[in-house]
Order: sequence, then C-alpha cells, then structure tokens
Amino acid sequence: MQNLPSHDLCVKCIKLSVTEVYLPNELTRIEAKCAEKGLKMTEQRRVIARVLAESRDHPDVDMLHQRSAAIDPNISIATVYRTVKLFEELGITQKHDFGDGRSRYEEATSSHHDHLIDLRTGKVIEFSNDEIERLQKEIAKKLGYKLVDHRLELYAVPL
Ligand SMILES: [Zn+2]
Repeated sequence: MQNLPSHDLCVKCIKLSVTEVYLPNELTRIEAKCAEKGLKMTEQRRVIARVLAESRDHPDVDMLHQRSAAIDPNISIATVYRTVKLFEELGITQKHDFGDGRSRYEEATSSHHDHLIDLRTGKVIEFSNDEIERLQKEIAKKLGYKLVDHRLELYAVPL
C-alpha cells in the first residue's frame, strides 16, 4: 500500500501502518474478510473495498463514490450504496452517524476507538483512552450490566 495512514493520534493507525509496511499487500484486509465470509468479489466491489481500506477519514457514500469512480468510472453511486450496506451487514465495515445527516464509513477493526468530531471542519479524530474505557465498564457494572460495546462521539470546536 502506498497510502499510509496520516493520523498521528491514533494508536490503531500506527499499529496498522507498521503492519502494512511488512505485509505484502496483495489483498486488503477488507478483501480478505469478504473472502472469509464467502462474498463474491466483483471487480467493482474490489475497488470499493480498496478505497475503503485506504480511507482514514471516515468518508460518506459521496466521497467513496468519487474515489472509486476515479479508479473505475463505471462504478455508480447506487453500487457504492449497495456495497457498503453489504459490507456493513457482514460486519466488514462500520457505519457512523456524526450528526450531520450523512452516514460515514470505516473499516471495522478489532481495536476499539472513539471519535472526536471537529464541528468547524467536519474532521474526525480517532482516540482511545483507558480511563474512559474503565469508567464505562464501571458504570455499566453499577447498573447491573456487563458492558459489551459502546460508541462515544465528542463534538468539539478548536480551542
Ligand atoms: Zn474511526
């Protein structure tokens, strides 16, 4: 992969970029997961999978379509919609709603992270914090539950 992640705040991305340097990347992780789930990979799906895998900015369908169509102009926005929906159903990608009415997508990874959304620019920053993770588990426990998942979004403006 020529595109290494640009996030410097994200531990996940740092780990991924190291992995990507060492792996001969004929298959992206998304493609590998599709194969694992028995999803037939058409050429167009492969392009969309690669675009998703290389996007670190949580793109919406329009952005994914622009990037995919730059590689294969025959890819329609409807195909992008169907494909991300399919990937989402298979747990290959994760959908986010960051409050601007556009669904945004990222590759579903095993390493958990939360998001901070810059309300001025729409930029999404990934972070993880042990203290927050611990507190959330503790709150769930106090309420009589075992925490299995959570989503945390911080909406912020620059200081
Ligand atoms: Zn993310």
